[in-house]
Amino acid sequence: MRFINDLNLKKQADELGVSVWQTPGFLFIVLGLVAAAVMAATFYLSQNYGSPEVLILSECAVAILVLTVGNSVIRVFEQMAKVNKMKSEFVSVASHQLRTPLSAIRWETELLLSKFKKGLSEKQVKNIESISLLSARMTRLVNDLLDVTRIDQKRLLMKKEPVNVSALAEESIAEMSDLAKSRNVEIIFIPKKNMPKITGDREKIKMVMENLIGNSVKYTTNRGKIEIKVFKKDNSIVFSIKDNGVGIPEEQQNRIFDKFFRSDNCVKYQTDGTGLGLYIAKSIVEQSGGEMWFKSVENLGSIFNFKLPIK
Ligand code: ADP
Repeated sequence: MRFINDLNLKKQADELGVSVWQTPGFLFIVLGLVAAAVMAATFYLSQNYGSPEVLILSECAVAILVLTVGNSVIRVFEQMAKVNKMKSEFVSVASHQLRTPLSAIRWETELLLSKFKKGLSEKQVKNIESISLLSARMTRLVNDLLDVTRIDQKRLLMKKEPVNVSALAEESIAEMSDLAKSRNVEIIFIPKKNMPKITGDREKIKMVMENLIGNSVKYTTNRGKIEIKVFKKDNSIVFSIKDNGVGIPEEQQNRIFDKFFRSDNCVKYQTDGTGLGLYIAKSIVEQSGGEMWFKSVENLGSIFNFKLPIK
């Protein structure tokens, strides 16, 4: 299947933003054809011309041809790698530049609301609250973009500290409880005592938990019920979150950890989202030596799990 997809050159070109002749699939076919032609020509020459000069000359011609094609393949890949690096650098610089004005907007709106709320009309308060909400959303997006570039450039730094996963889950649930209440979603979790600790970056693991809890809340319609479990299995601690939400269509499940991917059923009724959370979460878990996986049935719900090794 993957092989057939690789040969869909137009799709590949659209996805990579290059012309068809620059796609890896096309270059792969060219290399294949060159190899076949070279073999046929060598066979023909060795059959028809016994003289060593002709054979040496033809071998030189073959070597030049292979080197020329190989060189152009390398050039194309080099160009792609450069463009990719430039893109990451652009996203990184743009995100850094956006952070300062965004923080200023949030700071000013918070100041307005805390100090001057009395002098403002109801409509003015609503408008300022909306600015504050939108700038918080933009700050989240900018932070996600920065994390993605750090992950792509293998620059995401992870601390190594002892972490009690059950206690951290309790903390994350407490921080997400307002959101859950506002959406009428119940979260069930029974913390466990005396669980072995794992070694990892506390804040980043908390970010992973909050992303999974946030998703379960966001993608669960009214009367939602979320069950969270933290348990020990073999030499790992597993965090598991089950919801009775909208689920993920089966044909889109293989793309769920892709950057910017959002399933059709979620995009329809939940516009707030970037499709970066799970990509970041999975990278953090894997960089901590763990694994992330899920099961989901459309219109029934999903279970997202991750495990981290006890060291
Ligand atoms: P975002 O939530 O910002 O869109 P994520 O990377 O966290 O980005 O999630 C990617 C997509 O995976 C979501 O847009 C949604 O389509 C799907 N998804 C994630 N978690 C759930 C869930 N608990 N239930 C249903 N769909 C989910």
